[in-house]
Amino acid sequence: MGRITLEQVTKSFGEVDVIRPLDLSIEDGEFVVFVGPSGCGKSTLLRLIAGLEDVSSGRIEIDGQDATELPPAKRGLAMVFQSYALYPHMSVRKNIAFPLRMAKMDKAEQDRKVEQAAAVLNLGDYLDRRPGQLSGGQRQRVAIGRAIVREPAAFLFDEPLSNLDAALRVGMRLEISELHKRLTTTMVYVTHDQVEAMTMADKIVVLRAGNIEQVGSPLDLYRRPLNEFVAGFIGSPK
Ligand code: ADP
Ligand code: MG
Repeated sequence: MGRITLEQVTKSFGEVDVIRPLDLSIEDGEFVVFVGPSGCGKSTLLRLIAGLEDVSSGRIEIDGQDATELPPAKRGLAMVFQSYALYPHMSVRKNIAFPLRMAKMDKAEQDRKVEQAAAVLNLGDYLDRRPGQLSGGQRQRVAIGRAIVREPAAFLFDEPLSNLDAALRVGMRLEISELHKRLTTTMVYVTHDQVEAMTMADKIVVLRAGNIEQVGSPLDLYRRPLNEFVAGFIGSPK
């Protein structure tokens, strides 16, 4: 579960080629980070995987099945949005249970899954609060909880920490890494922050203007950057 393969995937908006023909394999359980400057196509690539955008050409496979034409809800993936995507009028419990209510899951089963997710995320004491009564980091954990209860084949994060201040970002980075160790579920994580990429990733995908410049472990990229762009971006001693 959680193996994602892109074959010759492209995306254009009108005349603009945002993703050039691109091949990528994400293995089961990997923590993969898409990194690159603003506008290079990171979000678009993640949205193509999620099914929130249709590819212009190419093929996407999830766990060996052709998913290119599947709607987002049928892909078995969960996108974690920034914390402001929570419903302000609903309790934490209801926010986390939201996808389960939509799926008309049995109420007792919903409660069980919410309790489990809350335990993993240390939100047990906050289930009856509203998002407005939580800190930024707690709100982000609620957003992650809403993804966890769906038991996705992979989590997709788009700059989930960009709203948080620097100190909180460090803490949340550790929490997400810890969560990955615990769940061992594939995570695809978009950031423009080199430090986040270098500290969190099993595998880094460096993007530039819709192309993959290099794929490798943080150490690979640091020691053997393929070009000046990667070296400059990763901060290799060259
Ligand atoms: P990143 O997440 O790396 O900052 P994006 O994937 O958001 O980059 O955007 C890549 C490029 O695609 C940008 O030039 C952006 O303006 C363009 N783009 C993204 N979404 C759309 C859209 N829906 N319509 C037109 N252009 C878009
Ligand atoms: Mg983006």
